Amino acid sequence: KTFREMKFPKAVISALKKKGIEKPTPIQIQGIPTVLSGRDMIGIAFTGSGKTLVFTLPLIMFCLEQEKRIPFMSNEGPYGLIVCPSRELARQTQEIIKYYMDQLAAEGFPSLRSALLIGGVQMKEQMEIVKRGVHVVVATPGRLMLMLDKKMVTLDVCRYLVLDEADRMIDMGFEEDVRTIFSYFKGQRQTLLFSATMPKKIQNFAVSALVEPVTINV
Ligand code: AMP
Repeated sequence: KTFREMKFPKAVISALKKKGIEKPTPIQIQGIPTVLSGRDMIGIAFTGSGKTLVFTLPLIMFCLEQEKRIPFMSNEGPYGLIVCPSRELARQTQEIIKYYMDQLAAEGFPSLRSALLIGGVQMKEQMEIVKRGVHVVVATPGRLMLMLDKKMVTLDVCRYLVLDEADRMIDMGFEEDVRTIFSYFKGQRQTLLFSATMPKKIQNFAVSALVEPVTINV
C-alpha cells in the first residue's frame, strides 16, 4: 500500500516527499486506513515507527473536510486535540502538523491553524492564538487543564482526541488530568491511544477511554 492509495491529495504526497518520506511504514499502512475509517484505535508503537503521521495526516484531512462544509468561526475551539506527556514531544508534534497544514495551504487548500498549549510559555500569548480560531491543539495536560478551567479554550466542537505516549503519561501521574480532559468533550469523539508498552494499567485505561478500539501492534 502506498500513500497515494490511501487517497491523500497530491499536495500531501509531495509534502511527504520533501521530507524524504515515500513509502509508508508498517504502522502507517495499518493505522492510517483504520483512523480514516473513524474507528477508535490503540497503536502499540515506539518513537521511530512513524506513528506521528498516523494521527496527524488523517486529522488534517478531517479539518479540511470540516472547513469545506462549514466556515470556521474564530473562538470556536479545535476539531482535534493531541495530548502529549512532555513539552518537547508536544512542540515536535505541532511543528509537524504546521508543516503539512502550511504545505497544503500553499497548494490552494483552506488554510488551517494550530496551537501549542504547554507550560513554560505565557498563557496570554497562547490565549490570543486560540481566540483567533485553531483547528488543532497540541498540548500537555497541565497547561490544557488550566486553560479549559479558565474557559480560554473549549472542546465543544472537538471530535478527535489523540493520547500520545500514553504509558509515559500514566507513569508521570497524568491519568486523572486526562480523565478530566475527557469530561470537557461534548459530542462523540474518535479516540486514538499510542503507547510503546501495554501493561495492565494502560490496558484498563484504554478500555475505559476508547470504544471498541482496533489494536495495531507493529
Ligand atoms: P515518529 O515515529 O512518528 O516519531 O517518526 C520518526 C521519524 O521517522 C521522523 O523523523 C519521521 O519524519 C520519519 N518517518 C515517518 N514516516 C516515515 C516514512 N514512511 N518513511 C521514512 N521516514 C519516515
